[in-house]
Amino acid sequence: MAILPFDDRDGVIWFNGKMVPWRDAKTHVLCHGLHYASSVFEGIRAYGGKAFKLREHMERFKASAQMLDFEIPYSVDELCKATEAVLKEQHIVDGYIRPVAWRGSEMMAISAQNNKTHTVIATWDWPAMFGKHDIRKEGVRLAISKWKRPSPETEPTASKAAGLYMICTLSKHAAERAGFQDAMMLDWRGYVAEATGANIFFVMKNGEIHTPKPDCFLDGITRRTVIELAKARGYTVVERHITPEEMADAKEAFLTGTAAEVTPVAAVENYTFTIGPVALGLMDDYAALVRGTSPETLKKAAG
Ligand code: PMP
Repeated sequence: MAILPFDDRDGVIWFNGKMVPWRDAKTHVLCHGLHYASSVFEGIRAYGGKAFKLREHMERFKASAQMLDFEIPYSVDELCKATEAVLKEQHIVDGYIRPVAWRGSEMMAISAQNNKTHTVIATWDWPAMFGKHDIRKEGVRLAISKWKRPSPETEPTASKAAGLYMICTLSKHAAERAGFQDAMMLDWRGYVAEATGANIFFVMKNGEIHTPKPDCFLDGITRRTVIELAKARGYTVVERHITPEEMADAKEAFLTGTAAEVTPVAAVENYTFTIGPVALGLMDDYAALVRGTSPETLKKAAG
């Protein structure tokens, strides 16, 4: 099935405070965001018409811009309300939400002291990956990238800055060319870091869940959610530096992310894992949580 190009669709996009027809949501080619990567974004999912962890995402969106030394001129509340409005206008039930903010065209040089910030929230249909039999049965296979996550002294690594995704695209392309679905990147010190759009977890042979300490990459909102779900199931979760060789001591592995949700990993190059009860159980827990059908949520709703 051909995918409709993203600049040629029906509907509306929230653009600097207004609903703009989809095809008119444009920026000029001479803008700082395009030339100097002064751009930050978010990726959010809506389930049953409701954006999951919307406030957390919008808080991170604003914080990402601040880390790049610019300010998104809307409050978290305004951004949440705008998201709800655009979801409604677009009649989204299960979908993806893409906020993006970038520096405009007032100055075209390294210095961008006088540039205005532009803010957009777009949304489109995107069914959840849950229940996809192939993922539950086969998981995904990852290559190890030759590109590393940089030191926090090189870039504001906690920011969801567009510029940092250059490393992810290079890694993902190389992995896909070699027949893998995604890449796992190490960090600048050689420790396991993350996949190109998701965090990584390992279930060790002693039953504990280990995941890299997010000290130079995104501490994913899904990562934090899944840590809570794992603790609620009684698992011990350890955040620490993990060397690639230690993957030999893991029996299961899985990815977490807004897009990936919980995705079992069958292999990282020559390290193979079983698709086992821990990953599959957390997949189910996450699916129930985002849809508001977990026993906890139902109990809270009943008062
Ligand atoms: N790492 C990277 C590089 C990502 O792009 C994402 C997706 N935003 C994540 C981790 C997971 O973050 P989250 O769970 O907040 O979506």
